[in-house]
Amino acid sequence: MDPRHAILFEPVVIGPKVLPNRFYQVPHASGFGSIKPGSQAAFRAIKAEGGWGGVCVEYSPVSMDADELPHVAANLRDDRDAAALAPTVEAVHAFGSLAGVELYHGGNASKGVNARTSRIAPSQLPAGSAWGSMAREMTLDDIERVQGDFVAAARRARDVGFDIVYVYGAHGYLMTQFLSTQANRRTDRYGGGLANRARFQREVLERVRDEIGGDCAIATRICIDGRDGLAGIELDDMLEFVTLIDPLVDLFDVTVGSWPEDSGTSRYYPEGHQLPWTGRVREATAKPIVGVGRYTNADQMAQVIRSGALDLIGAARPAIADPFLPTKIAEGRLDDVRECTGANVCIMREENFGHIGCIQNPTAGEEYRRGWHPEAVPPTAQPDRAVLVVGAGPAGMECALVLARRGFAAVHLVDEQEGIGGRLRWTRQLPTLGDWGRVTDWRMTQLGKLPNVEVITGRRLSADDVLDYGADLVVIATGSTWSGDGTQPGRDIPIVGIDAALTPERVMRGERPSGRRVIVYDCDGYYVAPGIAELLALEGFDVTLVTTHEVLSPMSEMSLERRMLTRHLREVGVTIRTGITVTGFAPGDITGIDQYGDEIALAADDIVLVTHQVPANGLHRELTSDPASLAASGVKAVHLIGDAAAPRWISEAVFDGHRLAREIDLPRAAFPAPLLREPLA
Ligand code: ADP
Repeated sequence: MDPRHAILFEPVVIGPKVLPNRFYQVPHASGFGSIKPGSQAAFRAIKAEGGWGGVCVEYSPVSMDADELPHVAANLRDDRDAAALAPTVEAVHAFGSLAGVELYHGGNASKGVNARTSRIAPSQLPAGSAWGSMAREMTLDDIERVQGDFVAAARRARDVGFDIVYVYGAHGYLMTQFLSTQANRRTDRYGGGLANRARFQREVLERVRDEIGGDCAIATRICIDGRDGLAGIELDDMLEFVTLIDPLVDLFDVTVGSWPEDSGTSRYYPEGHQLPWTGRVREATAKPIVGVGRYTNADQMAQVIRSGALDLIGAARPAIADPFLPTKIAEGRLDDVRECTGANVCIMREENFGHIGCIQNPTAGEEYRRGWHPEAVPPTAQPDRAVLVVGAGPAGMECALVLARRGFAAVHLVDEQEGIGGRLRWTRQLPTLGDWGRVTDWRMTQLGKLPNVEVITGRRLSADDVLDYGADLVVIATGSTWSGDGTQPGRDIPIVGIDAALTPERVMRGERPSGRRVIVYDCDGYYVAPGIAELLALEGFDVTLVTTHEVLSPMSEMSLERRMLTRHLREVGVTIRTGITVTGFAPGDITGIDQYGDEIALAADDIVLVTHQVPANGLHRELTSDPASLAASGVKAVHLIGDAAAPRWISEAVFDGHRLAREIDLPRAAFPAPLLREPLA
């Protein structure tokens, strides 16, 4: 180990427990909660195996009116919930790490819709009405009841063996609502000055400590108003609060602002962006402090610890991207660290699809149902076979890497471009998207370490080339192209007057609109259209981003960055028009239909279409339509993966490549092998 990183491997005492090192996976949601005990245990155990000294499950509602359904959480409302988490505790302990759980009540942010409770809050304020229910002001009986629920949940957590028990006081949830001058308008002893606003959390901490403090470390998560000012708790207030509760806490978990800020994407928040606020908490306590910062660089981590700002390197996303990050640092294998890109695919998948995933680590969330390990692949039973992978985008790169690791005799990864990366070659050039290039960079480094893989760039393969190549197995990963033909996805209205408009790829190859006024037309709804719009605006074009969607880039809402994106586009001078379908195009004269169904005119000289992608599956079709030639050339199977099969997110192309490489020698490799399912999966 590099002696400069030794500080990261020092044990840290937290209350009655000792963390074996300073790597700490903070509580974060997974989609597994206490309803998928196998997935939960396997997902967290991998992190313990990879060297994270502390490993936590997600937030755990303690009361019926904290219920999160249909979103999945790790409830601790009864003994059955607790029993479902026992395998996770056991699995984490098996690797010598400490297991943590986060006791939660969301107050007016909890849903309660499934259980049909009303939402509760310190004060009757106009709460967000996302579930058609305004919050009710908590009575003193409610306060006593909820505090009792925290104590009962803490007891259950202790009884199943959790080492670290959190009282969750951040991200705008119940404790934060009590602390906030904005949300708490009470005039009794739970409202008013700081000591009163702090009372609810302080009493919970006291009662939990009395109950389990001898057995477990008591942690609390707190948040401070950061850049977006949405937490309602400013730094000075928070420091006073920390001093007040200090004797009751063994570990402070410090965060900033709202969740979209705290888990900000790499597009708008650099690594360690929270430190100007979280780094100040040390002024109020000598107790251990954990904070996140999307840290993947060991030097930076060691520096943060040495500065005294944090005692533990907290991580959610970097631990998902690389569960073995601590081990790799310990072994000095820094270039093996699969660095988090900060794209928030983990959050997009977990929050919306009920199952976590990762753009960098395709095994994340697949530990139980597919039995995948991030650092190990099963050796192939056919090691004498040679495999040709055509196309070195996310799908092809990952597929070739895993095939080579599995021990196939020779793996050739061939791409017509002068470098690997496929669509990432231009995506990473879009403003703000540079860190996504880590998907390519990590694979390039890893491919370079393997003797049985050859990367050949600058060579386009035809069907005849493939047949003559001498491969036993062929994988087609030729990607997709953006359509410029004016067809609109999901609509019966083609754009009249268009047959070959500019597309994102053409713009990224250097072509430019024919006049100064440009419309970037977005039916895709994610990062491509905003990226192209910003790029052109920065070059001096007068850009309007016109979208069929009712809001700008709905998928950026899933990744927590829509607010930042909207603000950012305005700053660079892009005009945004939503809810518009473009129907006709002639230079200077673009027509459309607005959200009322009325025809409108949009003045622009040219248009860039970000409407839909077309799979580049011609090579696959040509090869598979001629079985005789395939047989004659000795090719035993031709597979289709990634965008060439169906255009999707980059994370899904990486997954597709990984999946095929693991299963390529199964009889029906084209379709995924059955999953090990849990009742709700
Ligand atoms: P995915 O996301 O599915 O991996 P990409 O579009 O990112 O797909 O990458 C596909 C890659 O395949 C591109 O780099 C493209 O240049 C390359 N490619 C497409 N057709 C051929 C071909 N016939 N021969 C070699 N490379 C090809």
